Amino acid sequence: MRIETLAVHAGHTPDLTTGAVTPAIQLSSTFERDPDGGYRAGHVYTRTSNPNRAAIEQVLAQLEGGSVAVAYASGSAATLAVFQALRPGDHVVAPTDAYFGTLRQLREIFAPWGLEADVVDMTDLESVRRALRPTTKIVWVETPSNPLVRVVDIAQLAELAHSVGARCVVDNTWATPVLQRPLHEGADLVMHSTTKYLGGHSDLLGGALVSRANDDFVERLLLMQKLGGAVPSPFDCWLLLRGIRTLPWRMRAHCDNAARVASFLSTHRGVDAVHYPGLESHPGHAIARRQMSGFGGMLSVQVRGGRDEALALTYRLTLFTRATSLGGTESLIEHRASVEGPVTLAPENLLRISVGLEHPDDLIDDLRAALDT
Ligand SMILES: *Cc1c(COP(=O)(O)O)cnc(C)c1O
Repeated sequence: MRIETLAVHAGHTPDLTTGAVTPAIQLSSTFERDPDGGYRAGHVYTRTSNPNRAAIEQVLAQLEGGSVAVAYASGSAATLAVFQALRPGDHVVAPTDAYFGTLRQLREIFAPWGLEADVVDMTDLESVRRALRPTTKIVWVETPSNPLVRVVDIAQLAELAHSVGARCVVDNTWATPVLQRPLHEGADLVMHSTTKYLGGHSDLLGGALVSRANDDFVERLLLMQKLGGAVPSPFDCWLLLRGIRTLPWRMRAHCDNAARVASFLSTHRGVDAVHYPGLESHPGHAIARRQMSGFGGMLSVQVRGGRDEALALTYRLTLFTRATSLGGTESLIEHRASVEGPVTLAPENLLRISVGLEHPDDLIDDLRAALDT
């Protein structure tokens, strides 16, 4: 089945008792035990399972082509669960341009627990190979990445991971399963911040892991979910499922709009550089072309001048909201360097843009007016 159909139909069954076509939000924290000692739908207590959460786990597993999905309260909680499933002395290789919260977890939470980590430039496969150790358990991959929208080869990185018996985990938040299927490229686990495109409306917080195999590592991830309790609320799960139903069509529009905005910006004299994998000048363009079915809705732009010129531009825009995050219907713009602080890799004149679902001509008019002022 094609992904548009899957997104609409996965986990979709009208309610047996009411006939309701749209699922209810099951707010109950607890479920009745039957006289035979069992539970009629298998749910006991909402921390361990809930109908709304079960629905999104089923849908996410199908969208990524995995065998099982485990949902968490945020993308960060999902990332945390992966590292918590490891043991002291285990080793992780992560990219220099991973989501900054991922790197902070490794440094500030897991280093004191004895988890070892090397952070390397993953566009250079040789430096990944050199970082691998017999104790490497995870090669963490993020593509396209923040804030330079760099693209790396999942298949090659998965092969490197497997050469030392490590798992390849891909943060697929920016691409979504519509544009990129890491499990098909050889990765073992996909991580999502469902807060972003999957939810799609900037109104929920969630995360998920999708595994290719239903193995002992998944058992550990489920343990973190059920015993740790960092689970999404039934309402957030319901909103997420509602968002996923339109995901393939939203991604198409995000890609079209971002391509239009990127090509406009790349010809403007007020711009030093545009980072968008759809541009032929982008260093990861060839990999993106092979690995992705579209180039996504995220881009970054380096404004001629410096930090002050970049920040001033954001105040002249009327359609781009100055806010962090991405993947919603509205376009967002953000000065990453001041958000990430001194550890940032973002150039001072860089603005990151989440291109929304407005008409691209309106977005371009707004950018042109702000750049020409
Ligand atoms: C937002 C984001 C995260 C963190 O997810 P939260 O839901 O905010 O905890 C991780 N990775 C990427 C690529 C993200 O964009």
